[in-house]
Amino acid sequence: MKSNKIINEMKLTLPSLPENEAVARGCVSQLLSRADPTVTEIADVRCAVSEAVTNCVVHAYKNTVGLIYINARLYDDGRFTVLITDKGCGIPDVSLAMTPLYTTDVKGERSGMGFAIMQTFADKVKVNSKVGAGTRVFMEKQLLRRG
Ligand code: ATP
Ligand code: MG
Repeated sequence: MKSNKIINEMKLTLPSLPENEAVARGCVSQLLSRADPTVTEIADVRCAVSEAVTNCVVHAYKNTVGLIYINARLYDDGRFTVLITDKGCGIPDVSLAMTPLYTTDVKGERSGMGFAIMQTFADKVKVNSKVGAGTRVFMEKQLLRRG
């Protein structure tokens, strides 16, 4: 049975400045590093967090600066979860947005692979979004040396 006991947790709120992608990645991996992760697990979580935070910066709050809310949790069964929330523009069709290579970027700078990368590096990715209200990206990874 899944345990719901949180043994460590972090809540972080950052403005959607491009440099805060590294801040978010660093803080989340610092929390994770206390849980005896493998090097691969740290790299995977860093990559997934980067993609989600970058999406807040470049899509949710395009041309503006808004807040990004990050909640990372470690459970006593070794599950590590990260919830990344924005109050930006929202996504009209989440399953379309999650299709590999799908992007709304018109400048040719984006490859439409962010969600695919999150799905590769996390065990579970759930996205909820409402146009005009914002987006929540939930990711979960089971740490191997625990659980
Ligand atoms: P890449 O991540 O490869 O640079 P991308 O950001 O376009 O390209 P995804 O991260 O897969 O690709 O996102 C797909 C699309 O989903 C985006 O082009 C954008 O339209 C939308 N999207 C993703 N995250 C958000 C968000 N937080 N708020 C609003 N729209 C989003
Ligand atoms: Mg992206």
